[in-house]
Parts: sequence; structure tokens; C-alpha cells
Amino acid sequence: MQVPAYVEYEKATSVQHALSLLAKFGPEARVLAGGHSLIPMMKLRLATPGHLVDLHGVAGLKGIRRDGNKVVIGAMTTQHELLASDEIKTSLPILQEAAAVIADPQVRYRGTLGGNVANGDPGNDMPALMLTLGAAYRLEGPNGAREVMASDFYQGAYFTALEPGEILTSVTIPLPAAGHGYAYEKLKRKVGDYATAAAAVVLTMAGGKVASCAIGLTNLHETPLLATDAAKAVIGTSLDAASLKNAAVAAQAIMSPAADARGPVEYRKHVGGIMVTRALQRAARRAK
Ligand SMILES: Cc1cc2nc3c(=O)[nH]c(=O)nc-3n(C[C@H](O)[C@H](O)[C@H](O)COP(=O)(O)OP(=O)(O)OC[C@H]3O[C@@H](n4cnc5c(N)ncnc54)[C@H](O)[C@@H]3O)c2cc1C
Repeated sequence: MQVPAYVEYEKATSVQHALSLLAKFGPEARVLAGGHSLIPMMKLRLATPGHLVDLHGVAGLKGIRRDGNKVVIGAMTTQHELLASDEIKTSLPILQEAAAVIADPQVRYRGTLGGNVANGDPGNDMPALMLTLGAAYRLEGPNGAREVMASDFYQGAYFTALEPGEILTSVTIPLPAAGHGYAYEKLKRKVGDYATAAAAVVLTMAGGKVASCAIGLTNLHETPLLATDAAKAVIGTSLDAASLKNAAVAAQAIMSPAADARGPVEYRKHVGGIMVTRALQRAARRAK
């Protein structure tokens, strides 16, 4: 079945308007952002919303701005806009590295950061980066606004802290330390595919040793993961072979990927460990 079921369409003009439409239509309504996860799900009839509330007319949801030592990105900012942004290039280059390996230009022109992180699909690339960077999500709903750390947002596959009637309006990311090294390593079956396994690393080096480190994992569990023990395994080391091995093993200990067309569980954990090792090595080479 490649045709969505009948659906009513509404274009919101402001966040308040979108919230009132969601309240009016209740659980039958879904927010439409870039549509590059939702529309394919609707075509397969895995999602059958009665109403779509399109956010494209809400000007306040776009844009990338610096706020002191943080970067605030509007939910409707596209992956293409992340790639084109000088602010992101300077402050958060790991976002550009990851955005460049999401799908293809057509998807990146429409797909939004907000949709990518709100979707709750373990295959989405941005959520693991948000955990690694310590990002917070602003959620606005009928009872006002609240901030939820990315690390508290993901509860299961397609199950997040978003309450009915809420919209994710922006993402706030603290600036990583000056001179940090970063890498996003993604293994995929072909260009444009979701990750078989991927790892994000942000670290700092001092005197040839790892001073701080955060590691995030994509598509290796039903939610994105922060590999805390793996990061601890390399702090204070020069990333010698033994500490890299310890980090890979610690990361593999928390992986529980699905066995699917991307491979059996053991294979995906094995390559997950390799992604962690490669990301650590590449991040360290970039650190100043
Ligand atoms: C061929 C193909 C390959 C792809 N490959 C990858 C890949 O490798 N990596 C990757 O990360 N992604 C991939 N994607 C998905 C793509 O990045 C999507 O654009 C993204 O997952 C969702 O963003 P969207 O703006 O399109 O959201 P939509 O599809 O519009 O929405 C997705 C879900 O999030 C909800 N939602 C959207 N915005 C908000 C908001 N602001 N507040 C609350 N809820 C919201 C919607 O209601 C819906 O449930 C691929 C897509 C395609 C079609």
C-alpha cells in the first residue's frame, strides 16, 4: 500500500495556533515537519493520523542563533540549513559531519532537526549527537513550556517524553570546549541508508591524554545511547590499543540492536565497537 489514508490538512501560522489545532483534534492529530519520516509511515499505513498540522508557516520555529555559550536551533531548521550554516561550522562541526551522511540532498532539503530528534526512531542520526553534546529540548504544550534534556527524552522506540498536544520548538546545545575533537562514524549498507551502527565522539586532549570525552551510539538499541563507561575507559589515557579495546567492549556491553536487514545482533555489535574505536581515533587527531 503506497497511498496514505484520507487525512485532513491544516497549516499553522504560529506556535499558539499549532497548539490550539492539536488541542482541537486530539490524539488523531500529528505535527507535520519535513514529512520525510511521517509521510513514508503514512504510505505504509503504519501511521494513520486523521489530521496533519503543518509547521512550515510558523516563522518562529526556524533559525540558528548564538545565545552566550549556547547555540539555539529552531525545530524547523532543515538538515540542509545546518550544513550551510557558518555558526554550526564554527561551533558544532559534528552536526555538519552527521547531517552530511543523512539520506540524500532531497531528504536533507526538507527533513528538519526537530523532526529528526522528536521522531523517536532509533535509526535517526541526530539524537545520539544530542546526548553526546548535552542538548536540551524546549517543549511547548497546553500547560506552557518546559525543557527536557535529550538524555531524558528517549524512552523506547518511537516513545519519547513528548506529551499529547506538545510541540518541540527548539534545541539548545552548549558549546563544546575550545579545541575539542569530534567525529561521527556511521556504517551504512549504501549511500542514503540509515546506520547499521554509528558512534559520535566529542573529546578534549591535554598533554597527549584524553581530558574529557562523551560517546553517543545510533541504532544500536531501541533508543540512542550515551556510552558513559566507554568514555570513562579512555579518560586519562593516550588512546593506546588497550584503552581503545576497553572502550569498545564497554560500549558493546550496552548495545542491544535489532536483528534486521542490516545484519544479525552480533554483527551489529561488532561493527558498533569498530565505529566507537574509529570515532575516538579521528576525534583525537582533530583535537587541538
Ligand atoms: C530515503 C530516506 C532516508 C533517510 N535516511 C536517514 C538517515 O540516514 N538518518 C536519519 O537520521 N534520518 C534519515 N531519514 C529521515 C529524515 O532525516 C527525516 O527527515 C527525519 O527523520 C524526520 O524529520 P522531518 O522533519 O521529515 O519530520 P516528519 O517526518 O514531518 O515528522 C516525524 C515525526 O516527528 C513528529 N514531529 C516532527 N516535528 C516535530 C516537532 N517540532 N515537535 C513534535 N513532533 C514533531 C511528527 O509528528 C512525526 O511523528 C531518511 C528519510 C528518507 C525518506
